[in-house]
Amino acid sequence: MVEAGSARRSRVPLAGLVAAVLAAAGCFVGGVSDPQGGEPAPPAPTVEPEATTTRADSTTSIEEFAEDVASAQAVAERYWAARFRESGERFQPIRRIIPYQRAGEVSCGGQPLPRNNAVYCSQGDFIAYDVTWSVAAFRQVGDAFVFYLLGHEYAHGIQVRLGVRYDFTIQQELQADCMAGAYLGDSVRAGDLTLAEGDLEEFREGLAAVGDDPGQPWFAEGSHGTAEQRTESFFRGYENSLSACGLG
Ligand SMILES: [Zn+2]
Repeated sequence: MVEAGSARRSRVPLAGLVAAVLAAAGCFVGGVSDPQGGEPAPPAPTVEPEATTTRADSTTSIEEFAEDVASAQAVAERYWAARFRESGERFQPIRRIIPYQRAGEVSCGGQPLPRNNAVYCSQGDFIAYDVTWSVAAFRQVGDAFVFYLLGHEYAHGIQVRLGVRYDFTIQQELQADCMAGAYLGDSVRAGDLTLAEGDLEEFREGLAAVGDDPGQPWFAEGSHGTAEQRTESFFRGYENSLSACGLG
């Protein structure tokens, strides 16, 4: 198991490859300003009590990737259901997680989704991701990336449920990074998720790779924040929980 992990985590080509895979990407939040229009979601799935363990040090098959996506989804649903319950609110899990392979295969609000992306679409209340791109990132960064990515997109669904709106996408994005950090840190502290050695480093690598180019203006539509800003936001949530994320 050490062999597979160390081979995958070979450092030499990693930075360049990840940057190439992720630079053009970043999540695009479909229609966050239009939270209405969803049909009633199905009832929440049964809560699984056992802890989920990430597998930073094992193999990287498509099956494992799919398992990690399902695990990340289950952990996120448990986490947000508990937070809503604490506030006396009813929680509807995000309705669907949809993998896609071709540009335009999935649309959000009539807009075809491009390759190399992951998105939360409020019109259909679903998360969609380019499976080829996500598996490539999973192989290059590690399984923690899947938990981060799902957590970030899930956070956009929570923002919509809470009616959070900002003037600039960067505020929305950095808050989603913080919320993804809180969901992961709190789930680890609660014993619902067990990190393997190296997972925290994987978060850092993944966040470094998804930062905006240095030339990108912070106020530009679609800005997510620099690698430093995204890393800071994620770990602020990871260490201090949701109260650090400015949800009010
Ligand atoms: Zn986002």
